[in-house]
Amino acid sequence: MNSKKSPKVFTRISEYRRWRNEKKNRSVGVVPTMGALHLGHARLLQVMRGEVEESVLTIFINPKQFGPGEDLSTYPASFEKDLLVARREEVDVIFAPSMDEIYPEGFSTFVNEIALSQVLCGAHRPGHFQGVTTVVMKLLQIIQPDRAYFGLKDAQQLLIINRMVIDLNVDVELIGVETVREPDGLAISSRNCYLTDSEREKASFIYHLLQEIAKKPTLDGIESAKNEFQCNGFQLQYLEWREMEHLSEISQSPSDHPSLIAAATYLGKTRLIDNLILNQDKIKSFRILK
Ligand code: AMP
Repeated sequence: MNSKKSPKVFTRISEYRRWRNEKKNRSVGVVPTMGALHLGHARLLQVMRGEVEESVLTIFINPKQFGPGEDLSTYPASFEKDLLVARREEVDVIFAPSMDEIYPEGFSTFVNEIALSQVLCGAHRPGHFQGVTTVVMKLLQIIQPDRAYFGLKDAQQLLIINRMVIDLNVDVELIGVETVREPDGLAISSRNCYLTDSEREKASFIYHLLQEIAKKPTLDGIESAKNEFQCNGFQLQYLEWREMEHLSEISQSPSDHPSLIAAATYLGKTRLIDNLILNQDKIKSFRILK
């Protein structure tokens, strides 16, 4: 018998705000997601559960972060399953607004980070990070959390949100949570379900190649890894090594500064991203939990 309580589900901002008002003196955490919850999301929920008195999960498939030709129309949705995961992870509240609730008629205000969002995924997905910062800013305004939890699988996204929170004086603590992987090393993602069996078998190659580079990172090593990707049937978008704070390119051998080796690649029709962070313990701008 499952004795865990079902989370409250709010679809309206006004309902949520009433609840938040009642919990004024309690610490509140939030994990923003687009649903289709998997073990990566579950880990974020567990970490949050251990740190705050009230835990909030948001589920909203944000159309503004999908470009033309991307997978918005086929993005997996599974509210009933998500509810079970939320219940298992002892989430107190799910905020799952409708499109109109988040983007009402006449919506015309966006949040734009203009430096970190120009490289890596930003260079290949125009408008993506503007969609992300806009919706995350709105969710932070609505949820009013003390802490917000994001996955390091999307390290660039976390760096950009961190910049936004500093620049716009948002009163929230950000926490990064380490990437949860399948037993063969593939980073868990809602998009992995698009992979065919043979693609799925190949997909862990990304992580293994990143690990190889990380053993002795050099620009030459990155160049030869790019070839390896192509030779193994991946259509690589980028493979880059950048320092962690400004995402500027690294031209020399490693220092003890935190840096990011990040890749995005198509495998068939599926776009996969992954990264490894070097000198992670030197990151000062946010806390990182496993
Ligand atoms: P999404 O629903 O894809 O927007 O992801 C919601 C949050 O879960 C983001 O902060 C992601 O970085 C995080 N996340 C997604 N996959 C993983 C994973 N495999 N490990 C840790 N966090 C993840």
